[in-house]
Amino acid sequence: MIAQVILNSNAKDLDRTFDYEIPEEMQDKIKIGNRVIVPFGRRVEEGFIVGFVDESEFKTKPIISFEENEFINEEKIEMAKWIAKRYFANLSDSLKLMLPPGTTSKNFDNRVKEKTEKFVYLVKTKDEIEELILSKKIKSEKHIRALRFLFSNNGIMVSELETLTDISKSIIKTLERNGYLEIKEEQIDRNPFANRAVKRTKKLTLTEEQDIAFNKIKMNEYKEYLLLGVTGSGKTEIYMQLIEENLKNNKSSIMLVPEISLTPQMVDNFMARFGEERIALLHSKLSVGERFDTWNRIVRGDAKIIIGARSAIFAPAKEIGLIIIDEEHDSSYQSEMTPKYNAKEVARYIANKNNCPLVLGSATPDMLSYKKALEGKIELLELTKRANNASLPEVEIVDLRDELAHGNHSMISRKLKEEIEKNLENKEQTLLFLNRRGYSTFIMCRDCGYTVKCKNCNITMTYHLKQDKLKCHYCGYETKRVTICPECSSTNIRYFGTGTQKLEQEINKLFPSASTIRMDIDTVTKKNSHEEILNKFKNENIDILIGTQMIVKGHHFSNVSLVGVIAADSSLNIEDFRANERTFQLLTQVEGRAGREKKKGRVIVQTYNPDSVAIELAKEQNYKEFYESEVGIRKQLKYPPFCDIIMLSFSSSYEQDVINQSKKIYQYLKKRVIEENIGIILYSPVPSPIDKIKNKFRWRIIIKCLYEDNINKLLQDMLEENEIKKNVRISIEINPYNMM
Ligand code: ADP
Ligand code: ZN
Ligand code: ZN
Repeated sequence: MIAQVILNSNAKDLDRTFDYEIPEEMQDKIKIGNRVIVPFGRRVEEGFIVGFVDESEFKTKPIISFEENEFINEEKIEMAKWIAKRYFANLSDSLKLMLPPGTTSKNFDNRVKEKTEKFVYLVKTKDEIEELILSKKIKSEKHIRALRFLFSNNGIMVSELETLTDISKSIIKTLERNGYLEIKEEQIDRNPFANRAVKRTKKLTLTEEQDIAFNKIKMNEYKEYLLLGVTGSGKTEIYMQLIEENLKNNKSSIMLVPEISLTPQMVDNFMARFGEERIALLHSKLSVGERFDTWNRIVRGDAKIIIGARSAIFAPAKEIGLIIIDEEHDSSYQSEMTPKYNAKEVARYIANKNNCPLVLGSATPDMLSYKKALEGKIELLELTKRANNASLPEVEIVDLRDELAHGNHSMISRKLKEEIEKNLENKEQTLLFLNRRGYSTFIMCRDCGYTVKCKNCNITMTYHLKQDKLKCHYCGYETKRVTICPECSSTNIRYFGTGTQKLEQEINKLFPSASTIRMDIDTVTKKNSHEEILNKFKNENIDILIGTQMIVKGHHFSNVSLVGVIAADSSLNIEDFRANERTFQLLTQVEGRAGREKKKGRVIVQTYNPDSVAIELAKEQNYKEFYESEVGIRKQLKYPPFCDIIMLSFSSSYEQDVINQSKKIYQYLKKRVIEENIGIILYSPVPSPIDKIKNKFRWRIIIKCLYEDNINKLLQDMLEENEIKKNVRISIEINPYNMM
């Protein structure tokens, strides 16, 4: 028999199977999915078995060794093939998605392994030992104490024994040598949440709307649902009850959430309902060891509730009975690294194979999901009211142009100032949202218009006050502040645009007695500081939390009654067809943070565009009307949800090579499209909006079409039939979220 092996390599020309002979002794042990070491040229390489055939047309060499692999099986290989094809990735890269993190490094020494500990077990029974003590066969007082301690602590970890008692390692060794006990090395789980004490909660009685949704989804078959519920309408409660139902049937549930909403609070809610031992939590802040062990708990079937960000969709869950995607509109479900997959599409694939429901939840669904719901392709379930009888907040829009006209040049409008004062008086908390970090977003010479740009990226640099430096938010490059214009030597340098640092400074000036705390990438750096900042805000009753995007999603603060949006326009003026949609989503989310319990919430939205439809409709959380107004524009301009956008990106350190390569590819596509009369809109190559990042020049070609098999074929042919210069990278992304 011959094994077909995919090598663990991301080289394009090695992206195919190679045949290897299976040595006698491996014949009945080796399985599909096993990791193997094989000879390749003069080297040895690692790979995975993806299939078996009877004969090979090549001269084959034998496999050197193999290793069981719990994570990859035929099903997973099939899925990896589907991903590789759909998202133009290597099969080996696609297979790696199915392996636990930390196990794919080329350097074997860097790979994580199971963690083991030494445990002590008594070999003789209690009676036998007491007998030996009586007959003075065991005399040492220390030995007697150690053995008696083990009567009630049999199987304790050696390290624990040492810290809890004064029994030393040498005593244990001696007792082992004398045949009274044995020391066994056993695998242990690195579980960051073990022993986290949370009070258990019971399920709530569902509201009428919740109950209808719950009973519809409870069906055990493949079907897709869109759960459209205003913020605070109790979507999470429905998820929990569905998961509970699924557990009863002994099935696994996968719930994806945006990384940012994997908050300690949200995790505690689930732990409180289900207990930590049944939950597998996967997110980027865990160590690789912790993630590795979490994967193992899933494989063993110990953890049947899997909660995690995008890549958790690949967790090795057994018998999946439910997949939930919360905040389904979130851009983090689209991977920006190869394979550039969309977790929602992968979830659909898995739900289909497992014949189980797929639930998409959001207060502001992706327009494509809602369009499908309207067309009856997925079932729409609605929650129109807040679950705990809290009413939606009162939103007021403040026109910043009026403020200027009244001589207020501060970034805090008179109205917002007044409301913050009220909150300080009433000892209620305030959230201030600004989607830009740093101090000033750019600096410019007033005399000649010179702006400081990053030397590696074609983008303006942001001023950071604390380090007194200019930073590039794309590549991290830092430089000194400019005081004299390098172009015209003027000293008339001005700082423009406001970031969270400057906002904090201004708040401290306006309200000197108020306590403030800031949350953005610059303050959230250590492992837990995300949690620390939120806990501090809550427990110490800090008056004002200032932050970026990070403070927007999922949090539930009971004492927050006021939310201020400092600049609602910041996401509106971006060159992206999703600008309106993003603004609507963001505002709805932020507004949803106010008054989630007894206190009535107030929201002040500051803007220079008070007439913007997105801003106006977010005020009432009126998703449907927003959809109606936006969908017309999308249809006219042929954008999703009417069409898919395919972005071919080219990058290289050599500008001319990027240009030539993109033009060559364009000519190829144009010829094929005309000759075969393929129905797509093909745009000529142009520089990307940010045309240089990290010293790489960037060009792109945009295609609008329905991404179906014929288009996939066209693009696969394109990659195969065109010689691509070694120093140029091409990447293909379907419906990218980041169009910069
Ligand atoms: P969403 O996920 O839709 O934003 P949550 O699930 O966080 O909403 O619910 C908002 C609040 O309403 C939470 O405090 C939750 O405990 C409460 N809640 C949800 N369902 C119910 C219910 N059936 N009865 C009472 N309170 C509920
Ligand atoms: Zn100048
Ligand atoms: Zn840069």
